[in-house]
Amino acid sequence: MADLEQLYQQVIMDHARSRHGSGLLEDWDGESVQVNPTCGDQVRLRVRLDRTAAPRVAAIGWEGQGCSISMASLSLMHDLAVGRTLAEVDELNELFLEMMHTRGGFDEDKADRLEDAAALEGVSRFPARVKCALLGWMALRAAIAHALVTDPEDS
Ligand code: ZN
Repeated sequence: MADLEQLYQQVIMDHARSRHGSGLLEDWDGESVQVNPTCGDQVRLRVRLDRTAAPRVAAIGWEGQGCSISMASLSLMHDLAVGRTLAEVDELNELFLEMMHTRGGFDEDKADRLEDAAALEGVSRFPARVKCALLGWMALRAAIAHALVTDPEDS
């Protein structure tokens, strides 16, 4: 178990540093700004949708500052969500929320579906940090909602 935790630590540190999806999109459909006052994390996230019959997340770009967990979670979420249908993103978001409330012992099959984002499972044992891990997902959900109420013909 110690090895797995070390691996998870490494994934989190790598993503906190490399920040996949970092940088705001010029061409976007929805935007959200989220703040986690308990830790001071903040993010501005923009999403571009591929508006087909089953709309997909075409791109996510974000700019933020905060603790390693919040920044790593945004980076991991970016890799997980880009290219997915909105229905899939909803499902992954629900799984991630569930993982954040298990406090250890999250179902392995569900963890597999979260891919590298499962590295954040350990955060669920520290309730004060759960909001850090959820910041990005809240921003993505709000940015998609914003995109869906915006008429693409107007932009
Ligand atoms: Zn934080």
